[in-house]
Amino acid sequence: MEDKGLLLVVSGPAGVGKGTLCKRLFSQAEKLNLEYSVSVTTRSPRPGEIEGKEYYFRTREEFLDMIANNEFLEWAEFCGNLYGTPLFHVHNVLKQDKTILLEIDIQGAKLVKEVFPHGVFIFIVPPTFTELADRLHGRGTESEEVIALRLAQAVEEMQNINDYDYAVENDEVDVAVEKIKSIIIAEHCRIKKTSS
Ligand code: 5GP
Repeated sequence: MEDKGLLLVVSGPAGVGKGTLCKRLFSQAEKLNLEYSVSVTTRSPRPGEIEGKEYYFRTREEFLDMIANNEFLEWAEFCGNLYGTPLFHVHNVLKQDKTILLEIDIQGAKLVKEVFPHGVFIFIVPPTFTELADRLHGRGTESEEVIALRLAQAVEEMQNINDYDYAVENDEVDVAVEKIKSIIIAEHCRIKKTSS
C-alpha cells in the first residue's frame, strides 16, 4: 500500500507516561498535522475518561465481534483487558499527508510493525523503575495486585527496546514532548529511498 502519511507508534511500559506525552502533543495537533488513533478497550472507564476521546469502551462480546469482522489493525490482551486499534481511521489518515499517532502497548507495537514496517516506532523509557512504581501508585486507579503485574511486565518489556527507531526518556514531560516533535518533523523531511 502506498501511503502519503506517517504512522507513528508511541509505546513503552504501562505507567511510563505515554498518555501524558501524547495528550500534550495533541494540544498542538493542528500545527503538527497530527491525528490520534482512538483505541477500543474492554476495561472500564477511569474517572474523567470520555467515550470516543480516550477510548471507545466496549464489552468483551462486542470486542470479540470486532475481531471476527477484521476491524482491528492489531489488538492485545493487557492485564486482563482487551485493547485494539481500529483499522478504518488509520487508513483514512495515511491516505492524506498527515501523521497518525498510535499510543499502544509493546505487544501491539510488534504487530503493527509487521503490517507497517516503515512506520516510526518510539519507545518511551522510564527514568527509573522506582519512578515508574511511584507513577502507578500515584495514579491511584489500580489495585496493588494490578500494579505489581504491570511492574513485572515493564521489566520484561524493556528487552524490546532494540526493535524501535527511537528511545525517548520521559524524565521531564516538556523535554520529552519536544523530542517527539523533533522526530515527527525530521521524519516528514526524510527522503524516501527506493531500494535498487
Ligand atoms: P490503560 O489501561 O492504562 O489505558 O492502558 C494499558 C496499556 O494498553 C497501555 O500501555 C496502553 O498504551 C495500551 N493500549 C492502549 N490502547 C491500545 C491498543 O489499541 N492496542 C494495544 N496493543 N495497546 C493499547
